[in-house]
Amino acid sequence: MSELPAPPRHMTPEEFRRHGHAVIDWLADYMARVETLPVLSRVEPGAVRAALPPAPPEHGESFADCLADVERIVVPGLTHWQHPRFLAYFPANASGPSILGELLSAGLGVQGMLWATSPACTELETHVMDWLADMLGLPAQFRSSSTGGGVIQDTASSSALVAMLAARERATGGAANAEGARQPLVAYTSTEAHSSILKGVRIAGIGERNLRLVPTTSDRAMDAEALGRMIEADRAAGLLPFFVSATIGTTSTGAIDPVPAIAALGRRHGLWVHVDAAHAGPAALVPELRWTHDGLDTVDSYCFNPHKWMLTNFDCDCFWVADRAALIGALSVLPEYLRNRATESGAVIDYRDWQVQLGRRFRALKLWLVIRHYGVEGLRAHVRHHVALTRWLTAAIDADPDFERVGAAPLTLVCFRLRGDDDRNQALLDAVNEGGETYITHTRVDGRLVLRIAVGATSTEHRHVEQAWEVIRTRARALGAA
Ligand code: PLP
Repeated sequence: MSELPAPPRHMTPEEFRRHGHAVIDWLADYMARVETLPVLSRVEPGAVRAALPPAPPEHGESFADCLADVERIVVPGLTHWQHPRFLAYFPANASGPSILGELLSAGLGVQGMLWATSPACTELETHVMDWLADMLGLPAQFRSSSTGGGVIQDTASSSALVAMLAARERATGGAANAEGARQPLVAYTSTEAHSSILKGVRIAGIGERNLRLVPTTSDRAMDAEALGRMIEADRAAGLLPFFVSATIGTTSTGAIDPVPAIAALGRRHGLWVHVDAAHAGPAALVPELRWTHDGLDTVDSYCFNPHKWMLTNFDCDCFWVADRAALIGALSVLPEYLRNRATESGAVIDYRDWQVQLGRRFRALKLWLVIRHYGVEGLRAHVRHHVALTRWLTAAIDADPDFERVGAAPLTLVCFRLRGDDDRNQALLDAVNEGGETYITHTRVDGRLVLRIAVGATSTEHRHVEQAWEVIRTRARALGAA
């Protein structure tokens, strides 16, 4: 017999232990020093690639060299999302227990497409999602013991898409997957909704023309009366309204759509009502903020991202449906090679039927560790802390005659302007972000450029918000009078 080729040289368990310790040490040091780094990366386009060799190494390199290059090449090219003065977009929380959960998941290396491919991967997920449903006070039908259940998706975009696919199937009595919808389907969301709804409409083949952007009221929340009129007009025109997505905490300004009124319209006209609380979800952990989640009792699906504001690193989106049969009916395909006794017994959940892709990561581990590490009380403290910091900031902006606030700030997003025109606000935004001490972003409200501060990075404390506000005021003064 000819000689077999030698296997590659794997990292031995002992080497893994040594390098693993070095990586954890490096990360612990990073957490301790991130505050001293410029928040926004200052590299020019192409600089990171220019520092990399044009060709991959033919022979393996030492792990220590690789880690040194993370410091030398990668770190300067990072915008530091874990910086306590990162106040841009919405935060992307990481935390110790979550990172360790992610590491455990990678180390175990399981792929949980079916219950049978790792029962713990599925059952821990179902259990944690039921815990979370209780923690957030979600309606009983979202529990796995009822007609619905929860599943972890990668992102809120995926949740909106699968909700839309389930809605499409339900509205067409199961015909959409088999032969395509015969009647044009129409979806609704507000002009302020996240772009993932439009993307979902495109992917689901609904057609961009068939997405109605419902106008908002003065608080930038969906105008439910306008929604009702639009649905009726579409029905009168022979179209089939099938889906509406409401937002709790819009990306642009944090507006909260009137979910009770939207849900009532959904019920009356047979629409699937999806609620996107990608950022604002953790507010429901706190009794005094749970009003933000009023009206979920009769909605069909709901999602939020622990990877934004619940201390769980990206990616982790929690998605619940009231009727899991509708979701599974839309997404389940069972080829011969996936058949197994557990699936056929009907006694288990196969989460591959609840998502777009087949394979799935063991995300429940990090969520489980986060909930166990902080406890529900600790998670509530996280939310309350950031809401209190935001209240302080709102009061500081209101007290400063050079600035005006735009809209309410019920949670952790504050929108405001420097008095004067858009050019002045753009100049302030650029000056603040070029300085490196903090990072804020902008939006447009009623055609005007508006600055936004999103409090909520894991390590943000009062002093960081004070420092950031001082940077903004100083840069504004340097621009001179309006
Ligand atoms: N929905 C809202 C309200 C958001 O703010 C965002 C992102 O900021 C999304 C959806 C999209 O989130 P994801 O990246 O999880 O798809």
